[in-house]
Amino acid sequence: MGLFRLINKDVAFENETRQGVVTLRLLYIIQAVVVVLDVFFAGLHVLSEYKFVTLGTLAAVVVLFLLTYWMKTEPAMIAYIVFTFLLVPWLIPILGWKAGIQDYYVVILMLCFFANFGSVGFKFALASVVFFARLLVFMCYTDMASNLPIDDLGNKLIQITNNSGVFLSVIIVSFIFSHRENEAESKLMKYNDRLVREANTDELTGLYNRRRGMEFIEEIKDSSFLGSVSIVMGDIDFFKKVNDTYGHDAGDEVLRAIAKTMQDTVGKDAFLIRWGGEEFLMIFGAKNGDETLGIIENLRVHIMEHPIRVKDNEISVTMTFGLAEYDFSGDVQNTVKEADSKLYMGKERGRNRVVY
Ligand code: GH3
Ligand code: MG
Ligand code: MG
Repeated sequence: MGLFRLINKDVAFENETRQGVVTLRLLYIIQAVVVVLDVFFAGLHVLSEYKFVTLGTLAAVVVLFLLTYWMKTEPAMIAYIVFTFLLVPWLIPILGWKAGIQDYYVVILMLCFFANFGSVGFKFALASVVFFARLLVFMCYTDMASNLPIDDLGNKLIQITNNSGVFLSVIIVSFIFSHRENEAESKLMKYNDRLVREANTDELTGLYNRRRGMEFIEEIKDSSFLGSVSIVMGDIDFFKKVNDTYGHDAGDEVLRAIAKTMQDTVGKDAFLIRWGGEEFLMIFGAKNGDETLGIIENLRVHIMEHPIRVKDNEISVTMTFGLAEYDFSGDVQNTVKEADSKLYMGKERGRNRVVY
């Protein structure tokens, strides 16, 4: 069960399908078993005579197997193909032509056409390369005898092992990909990704929406992080006047521009949420109130000093901010409320300021 779970473990990337890497993991396990059995049937003296080849091959298989846990599917596929491609001419001189190592090229072909990676052009190009490599291998190595003093029985067992390895690999690739779920699964995942993104994003500004913001606030509460988190509520001053003077569309442009400025200036430090109409919530993880005060003061000055160009108009806006620090002792919602009341304090005191 443990091995099954290990092989079936999901990929590290959300929108990648699992079938590809699960197939690769199984193919690597087959390769590892085949190498071990080949060594065993050739006689354990191979281990000392061809230490580098045998242990190197096994080590490469293990490393490539492990890489499937954090590589994207496409590079993982390419890694398998390149490795197997090189393995054939590397092992034939040792095990001999009759061992049947060259048949692994068929597995490459199958992966190339069944797996969901690369363009059609890429697939045919790769198939041609594999075809010519197979011809070249045939011309160079056909009927080549093994380098090793292997007896008849050993030779036969090695042939059986490699033929079984190739057959099993072909069966695995055919079985997994003939389900045709790959395409559907990948489409579904992309669709799902889009839905999640849309459900979390404010359409106008591209910032997170209030729903995602609320969720994030809950996540802060549950996190084990013990530093300080700063919460800033910002609101554009006299925004109604912008709409009244330049029109609602221009108002939208201003909202977009302000969101972009926020992203460019504090985006790397803060989780940015469009909380309401012209109101933005910024959550600074791992920043205390004093540090955040400096950052927001710079943002305020930047917004004040950079009028937003909409068509022929230069629209100057200012923003007022309320800042509160959450120290993980009470409810985060209270800190959000505190930031909000400080924002309104700022409005009462004349706007265009940060209140901490
Ligand atoms: P204050 O300085 O007190 O915040 O004044 P204000 O005019 O900014 O505040 P008020 O709450 O009176 O007005 C907010 C305006 O924001 C009213 C509303 O039409 C406008 N608004 C809200 N959402 C949008 C939007 O998505 N697009 C545009 N263009 N305007 C919006
Ligand atoms: Mg306002
Ligand atoms: Mg408002």
